Amino acid sequence: MKSNEVSLDCHSFGAMALTVGITGGIGSGKTTACRIFESLGIRVFYADDQAKALYYTDAILKKEVCEAFGEGIYPDGKFSKENLASIVFQDASKLKILNDLVHPALARAFEEWCDRFESEAYILKEAAILIESGGHKNCDSLVVVSCPEEIRIQRVMERDQVSAEEVQGRMNHQLSEADRLAHATFELVNDGTKPVTPQVSELHEKLIALARTH
Ligand code: ATP
Repeated sequence: MKSNEVSLDCHSFGAMALTVGITGGIGSGKTTACRIFESLGIRVFYADDQAKALYYTDAILKKEVCEAFGEGIYPDGKFSKENLASIVFQDASKLKILNDLVHPALARAFEEWCDRFESEAYILKEAAILIESGGHKNCDSLVVVSCPEEIRIQRVMERDQVSAEEVQGRMNHQLSEADRLAHATFELVNDGTKPVTPQVSELHEKLIALARTH
């Protein structure tokens, strides 16, 4: 077997895949790291993308959102992100109601997704606010992608063509780097001083070993 191939010998692993959370501040390189894990054959649940998709795909959530915020969220039957945003971003109590609806819907989606991949050694759950939402408590292990704030701001400004203030505004809703790292089982350093791919390969071997004892 090549060193970068995942052993799919299911009998060596537990009945359930090890659940590994992966998080980091905005622009830290979560997606970049996850793409490398995917190239090693690891399945990644992108929680933020999945949450956005639920407004279109989850019939229960659609019904609940209409009941809570009115039929105007689905004009002509099509989801309107703008109409929902105009309601919830004006009022913290409404945002909380929305989060309380999305959270169980996302948990349902994640559970169904996990069932499809239960024979994998480990799976990754990627989310920007995994710790802030308490989701890390349901993970067996937590990877934090770290990178100093100044570099993250620069990278996101270039990626999204936005101002430093806008990036800073998004960061204000997130934990500090130190608080995030305090919860980490593993750290991937992505400040440009060390290449990411070898760090991911090394971590992959550790997670495979951990999965064997799971
Ligand atoms: P977000 O929180 O916004 O979803 P993220 O944590 O997923 O972001 P990425 O999108 O992976 O972060 O990376 C942010 C930007 O920085 C991207 O444009 C990416 O190509 C770039 N980037 C990531 N890692 C590095 C690196 N080591 N060197 C240079 N650029 C990098």
